[in-house]
Amino acid sequence: MIHIAIDGPAGSGKSTIAKKVAEKFNINYLDSGALYRIIGYYIFNENINLEDANGIVNSLGDIDIILSEGKYRLNGKLIDDQIRTYNSGKLASRVAKIPEVRKKVNYILKSISSKESTVIDGRDIGTVVLPKAEVKIYLTASAKERANRRYKELIEKGEKVNFEDVYTEIKKRDEADTNRTIAPLKPAEDAKIIDTTGKKIEEVLSEIYTIVES
Ligand code: C5P
Repeated sequence: MIHIAIDGPAGSGKSTIAKKVAEKFNINYLDSGALYRIIGYYIFNENINLEDANGIVNSLGDIDIILSEGKYRLNGKLIDDQIRTYNSGKLASRVAKIPEVRKKVNYILKSISSKESTVIDGRDIGTVVLPKAEVKIYLTASAKERANRRYKELIEKGEKVNFEDVYTEIKKRDEADTNRTIAPLKPAEDAKIIDTTGKKIEEVLSEIYTIVES
């Protein structure tokens, strides 16, 4: 078995890269951000107050998330596009501050990884979820470039956003993810840091393939 942790800030290209790495080595890809997004989506749709951490924690038992054929199911229903919106990213970031939420997400990620090889992308995979992963990559890029990538993605999906808002939100998320006390965003000591600013996906992939195969 091999486990590959790919961490980094919002818009650093983690999910695009992680999916390709998983395909190349024919192993399962787990998107940890999607799990936080699903929990945020559930809390929002059930009208649970986002300020009410106890209410959120009490509802965690009602949230059943499973991965089947590369897709997540929330309480039996396929969930994907609903959690890819601008708003669901913000909701994810809010619920991700709650320790019990992180515990639930980590449990799902660890139990799948205990049975098979995985590539997982997130913020704390190399530091907290899979500290013994054989390969740890930390992707980064300038905040402006990351905002630009996110902006293009959202526009392609038909969302009405403007660049300045996306840029401000990226910087806010960096700040929140880096400064939170629980599982802050930072590279693991043994992670290989790759700055993707100005790089093509293929260039980044070939660096990662070399690391995995070495
Ligand atoms: O990666 P993605 O943008 O889907 O993540 C959404 C939010 O979920 C992040 O901004 C972050 O606050 C949270 N998250 C986290 N830990 C992870 C993955 C995501 O706190 N491992």
